[in-house]
Amino acid sequence: MPLPAPPPQGLAMLPPHTYAGQVVVVTGGGTGLGKAIAAEFARLGAGVAVASRKPEHRQAGVQTIEALGAKAVGVALDVRDPDAVAAMFDQVERDLGPADVLINNAAGNFPAQAVKMSPNAWRSVVDIVLNGTFFCSSEFARRALSRSAPGAILNIGATYSWTGGPGTAHSAAAKAAVTNLTQSLAVEWAPHGIRVNCLAPGKFPHDDLPEALRKVSTPEQDAARIPGGRVGLPHELAWAATYMCSPYAAYLTGHTLVLDGGNWLRRGLTMPEFIPIEEQLS
Ligand code: NAP
Repeated sequence: MPLPAPPPQGLAMLPPHTYAGQVVVVTGGGTGLGKAIAAEFARLGAGVAVASRKPEHRQAGVQTIEALGAKAVGVALDVRDPDAVAAMFDQVERDLGPADVLINNAAGNFPAQAVKMSPNAWRSVVDIVLNGTFFCSSEFARRALSRSAPGAILNIGATYSWTGGPGTAHSAAAKAAVTNLTQSLAVEWAPHGIRVNCLAPGKFPHDDLPEALRKVSTPEQDAARIPGGRVGLPHELAWAATYMCSPYAAYLTGHTLVLDGGNWLRRGLTMPEFIPIEEQLS
């Protein structure tokens, strides 16, 4: 029997209005898991800023939030550019008010063999995942400090932070750095009332997954390979995000929560036949 399914999407995990009057910035909040996270904050009363590069993504995020009756703004942002990050927070302050919560969700990922990975591909993923997370977090914290306001930052990580993994050298190394950065910033900013945590999803398929990742395996194949017997549902990841940034988690900081049905701990008495990355990607 697989792990039980969570309650259906549409129920809020926390009391209604938990985030009333609060402003939440979600980078990459117009697609996939970022959009699901943005929606759950909206359901709890937050005003949400969807910050990413593509207008059609931002528009999809804003529509989802507004359909839930919450305030939303789409802000153009490339997280690799610190000036653009500062301009994004300026616009959020003008349109919604100062940010109380930051979700560093934006990421770039495409499986590639390390020997075929161009310097540009390596730099691009490290720049989005690691540098982008740092630029957004430090700008958020500077602004919170200047108004003596508390805040919560949640980094969206990945379980290959600990294991690494073939085909993901760029992303796994960058996510490992983000897990580490979570801890440094948590200690540095706790005296100022700013919490920094990380949420590491396992397999959470969704409609916006790029073709390159969709080709790797189907949700049904994934479910059969996960100890918990099923893939994750975006809204259950989003519930965890809303808890970790909420007043109910006021003493939680520097923590990485893994939500993956036991997948990254999976080991067998005998291991399956090893398939080199060249064959897996062919
Ligand atoms: P996704 O749909 O591909 O979302 C990535 C988002 O990041 C997009 O909305 C994209 O928007 C934005 N983005 C990319 N580069 C950016 C940049 N330079 N500046 C600003 N925004 C940028 O991926 P997802 O599956 O929802 O993943 C969300 C998070 O969960 C990621 O951190 C990912 O690593 C993590 N994760 C996902 C899974 C999973 O099973 N889905 C598993 C483990 C970890 P634009 O194109 O508009 O910029």
